[in-house]
Amino acid sequence: MLIRNAEIVDLPSGRVRSADLRLAHGRIRQIGSLVPQPGEILIDAGGGALLPGLHDHHIHLMSFAASLDSVRCGPPEVASADALSSVLCSAATRTGWLRGIGYHESVAGDIDSRWLDARIADHPVRIQHRSGRLWILNSAALAALRDTDSAPVLPGDGRIYDQDLLLGELFGRTLPPMTPASRRLASYGVTAVTDMTPSNDEQAFTRFTDLHSSGHLLQSVHLAGSMDLPYPSNRHGVVTGATKIHLHDSSLPVFEDLCELIRASHANDRPVAVHCVTEVALVFALAALRETGLHQRDRIEHASVTPPSLVDQLYESGLLVVTQTNFVAERGDEYLEDLPKQEHPWLYRAGTFLARGVRLAGGTDAPFGEADPWIAMHAAVTRTTRTGAVLGAAERLTPEQAMALFAGSCEVPEIPLRLEEGAVADLCLLSEPWGRARRLLSSDLVSATLRRGELIFDRTGASLRDP
Ligand SMILES: [Zn+2]
Repeated sequence: MLIRNAEIVDLPSGRVRSADLRLAHGRIRQIGSLVPQPGEILIDAGGGALLPGLHDHHIHLMSFAASLDSVRCGPPEVASADALSSVLCSAATRTGWLRGIGYHESVAGDIDSRWLDARIADHPVRIQHRSGRLWILNSAALAALRDTDSAPVLPGDGRIYDQDLLLGELFGRTLPPMTPASRRLASYGVTAVTDMTPSNDEQAFTRFTDLHSSGHLLQSVHLAGSMDLPYPSNRHGVVTGATKIHLHDSSLPVFEDLCELIRASHANDRPVAVHCVTEVALVFALAALRETGLHQRDRIEHASVTPPSLVDQLYESGLLVVTQTNFVAERGDEYLEDLPKQEHPWLYRAGTFLARGVRLAGGTDAPFGEADPWIAMHAAVTRTTRTGAVLGAAERLTPEQAMALFAGSCEVPEIPLRLEEGAVADLCLLSEPWGRARRLLSSDLVSATLRRGELIFDRTGASLRDP
């Protein structure tokens, strides 16, 4: 395959050069001024920017696939109790379970089964809080679950916390179709993802390798997960990685137990990825990792709230932070309203991390955030919320820095890949040159996505065989 007249972008410098690229056996074979060979597939890039294929360094693929089949129950689409009632009632005409996602208290407070029953009584409904930790069920749903053999004691108010595995079994684990989700990611230029679901185990590994080998999953997958995930493993484009550790303020583990878990992972030469969305969790994680010592690929997920003293500690630790700047756009208005003013400059930092030398990469946390990485990049540059307010002006990145958050490999997420001869041909082609694209930072710009030299998304309409 020959890509003609592309503008190769170097990150994070932003330097560009125009060239043709020949791809063969999944790699970039040649770069220069090239003449098409007979029978070669041609893509005319028309001077558009060519970037490394994007890597979403923090996503939950199965939940994302399921979300495409679910009713949105939270902001911005649904912002009031009336709006929620109306989307639920119109969705309840379908048969079977109604699955809602993205709920937040700002819509209708701490709703429970009684609240749901008053809207939908004859139809099982389950709604997920946008934190991913809470499911709210109506009475019909609770009754359906109580009918199953392995039914546990379920809370009468229908609010079930941190029971994803159990609920998955009770709901019958019908797997959502992956193809639409994977195609959607390809249309954003995404060629690889890191799945950060803490419950990923041997079964999940098999599921992902099956999806990959059957062609339902177009992206390379790096899989973090539980200690039961086989490690190291590499099969059909699925590679296993870090042990995912969730820390929640309300139920922090015993410090020594956490250290033991980290040591057990490290003993297998396996890094840990610690979920820290509060200052307390981050302090706790940093203390544990100081105690155990670091694996060079250990990472902190989110680092949502980082006061100045912890920025220094993160730098000194050498840890990688995987941030979600899309939350600035998607949730920024609520943060500005709900969180103490003092914390506003500490939220989803990026500029300060890079200036201080903290290793940094980006992920969307889809489906809890929007899966389009360009939203995260745009927000990293503008730091604007949906209503146009600014959150953390000091954290602004250049478009090149923002792009670089998604241009690294799974193994070294903070260093953008380079498009050079011999490199793997995971590519994202834009319809505009970088000089224009950097001002827009929108997924509408993506005109073709290639993984291992194969088109997984194409709207160039220009790929033809040279006669
Ligand atoms: Zn997550």
